[in-house]
Amino acid sequence: MCVLQCFPMCSLFPPFPGASLSLVNGRNRCEGRVEIYSNGNRGTVCDDGWDINDANVVCRQLGCGEAISPPGSARFGQGTGTIWLDDMNCAGSETALTECPAKPWGDHNCNHGEDAGVVCSGTVNSHNHRRPEGGRDLWRFPC
Ligand code: CA
Ligand code: CA
Repeated sequence: MCVLQCFPMCSLFPPFPGASLSLVNGRNRCEGRVEIYSNGNRGTVCDDGWDINDANVVCRQLGCGEAISPPGSARFGQGTGTIWLDDMNCAGSETALTECPAKPWGDHNCNHGEDAGVVCSGTVNSHNHRRPEGGRDLWRFPC
């Protein structure tokens, strides 16, 4: 079974059907600014309360391993559009960012200078390469 049917973006859980998650402006798809697309609108996540637990959820959701760091302050550049999520308070074990406690969807006191980013341990790129590691195929793509 292919784990990442969502490549290159993963669907977020309801109550935000159609919303998707991706990391942009990094060296590969496993790091960058957190971007959420919902109803055709692109948006970001505020760095208030953003920490390694929140980043871990993003990394896992994207099939990118563990989080290495949760850079904030628009480390990967300022996004555009709506800031969908603020005051993220993930425990780290959630399977999707939208399962984490946070302010109500779209409610925030931030600006894009506070856009949250993630650096994950996964270093996959956007190509469908297969690279054996330790005798096992750790690449969960291509789908
Ligand atoms: Ca947090
Ligand atoms: Ca806030």
